[in-house]
Amino acid sequence: MSGTIRQKQPVLGILGGGQLARMLAIAAAPLGVKTLVVDSAPDACAGQVAPLRVADWTDYDALAKFAAEVDVVTFDFENVPADTAHWLAERAAVFPNPRALAVAQDRLAEKTLFRECGLHTPAFEAVDTREDLDRALTKIGAPAILKTRRLGYDGKGQFRIKHLKDADAAWAALGSNAHGLILEAFVPFERELSVLAVRTRDGDFRVWPLTQNWHTDGVLSLSLAPAPDVGALQSRAEALARTLAERLDYVGVFALELFVKDGDLLGNEMAPRVHNSGHWTIEGAIASQFENHVRAVLGLPLGDTAARGLSAMFNWIGELPDAVPVMATVDGHWHDYGKQSRPGRKVGHATVCATDAKVLAARIGEIARALNREEQAAPGLQAL
Ligand code: AMP
Repeated sequence: MSGTIRQKQPVLGILGGGQLARMLAIAAAPLGVKTLVVDSAPDACAGQVAPLRVADWTDYDALAKFAAEVDVVTFDFENVPADTAHWLAERAAVFPNPRALAVAQDRLAEKTLFRECGLHTPAFEAVDTREDLDRALTKIGAPAILKTRRLGYDGKGQFRIKHLKDADAAWAALGSNAHGLILEAFVPFERELSVLAVRTRDGDFRVWPLTQNWHTDGVLSLSLAPAPDVGALQSRAEALARTLAERLDYVGVFALELFVKDGDLLGNEMAPRVHNSGHWTIEGAIASQFENHVRAVLGLPLGDTAARGLSAMFNWIGELPDAVPVMATVDGHWHDYGKQSRPGRKVGHATVCATDAKVLAARIGEIARALNREEQAAPGLQAL
């Protein structure tokens, strides 16, 4: 019998132990890849499926032990402090690299890079003082959104300025932020899309079909993939994502959140990790974002990013609905993250797949009626 002698199983270290780490660990297992997770919370939900080290981002003794135990380090959480990422990069292979992480942590650096790469953005201005805010509002006008440059996600750390007279309220809400702010024009977009891409250590680059997303209160509520009627936007998004990835020497999966306005793509944000809008790829694509991220960071060949058919993903925020109607639906898939219910918390998702739009719409409708989620499903049904 021929074949290679099996080396020791590689260990993938994951910084952050939320649902993304959990789904990475689940995808890693059949590849023969072990995972080791670090999180400051002893009940981090990835700890239910992978060994968990409880430590915070400045516990260098614990991080040194962690670095010695793993072959490659990656992230489930992009706000790991830059110092920690650099420190680890001196002791282990870290993908994506700390520079890519640093750019994606700062909305100002991120949007500046988007423009340099040819990706248009909403008009934006840096805001550090109350006077800066007035100046920026004069340039950009209202409506606009004041956002923290760092540590904002899912609509947190944002204030919508409907009228110029809201400036005082916006400053009262966010002005004390130590990391600075950014004012962005409010874009009355036609739709929100995301492109998920993956790049390997030797530069192989692939994208999944574009995903269309709907948010409620800034949090992803529903995704549809492949996004219907995107035409040339697919190749445009792919080219932009490739330029960005090459510029950052990025390794692993990332997502670009995009607004479509007058047929143009505007960059909202880059997530330097697997992304909520890519959860449909678990059942709906030949290789999922989680599997391809593990493959990319470990130097393994990528799997095919083609969709198997059409998919819709419902995000469950705050608490899980009844699983049974999803499980009872043909090609319906349930994902419970094993978290406690809490308002605003992502606690699970469900994906439903089909080979054509009519059948998918029927299955979405079936689930939505049974769970009383017609409102959540409505924009997806309309788009199909
Ligand atoms: P973010 O945390 O920046 O991803 O924002 C969350 C959501 O708020 C986005 O997915 C959009 O639905 C909305 N949003 C953010 N920025 C803008 C903007 N400049 N114009 C219009 N809507 C926005």
